[in-house]
Amino acid sequence: MCTITQSPGKFEGEPCITLYAYHWIMEGLGDIVGEDEGDNTEALYAPHTLVDIEYTQMDGVFICDECKADILAAGTIRCWEDDLGFVYSDTDELQVAKSSQ
Ligand SMILES: [Zn+2]
Repeated sequence: MCTITQSPGKFEGEPCITLYAYHWIMEGLGDIVGEDEGDNTEALYAPHTLVDIEYTQMDGVFICDECKADILAAGTIRCWEDDLGFVYSDTDELQVAKSSQ
C-alpha cells in the first residue's frame, strides 16, 4: 500500500500511482477506454519502466517506493476523473505471457 496518500484536493486519499497515471494522460499518452468507469476513463499500458517514473518525478510528482513497485508490476493502469473533479485509478496485474502477439 502507498505510504503517502495525497492531501485534500483532486487526488485526496489516492496513492501516488494515480498521480503517475494522471500525469501521463495529461501528456497525451493515455488511450480512452470509456465504458468501465465512465466516459472519461483512459488507460496506460505496460511496460511501465523506472525511466517513466524518473521522468514523472522530474516534473515534480513524488512517487513513493511502494507505488514505484506497483507501477512496475502493473499491466494496464486506468485513470478517470469524476464529475466533481476527483481523480481515481486502478490497475491490472501485468500479464507476462500473451499468446496473441
Ligand atoms: Zn505512493
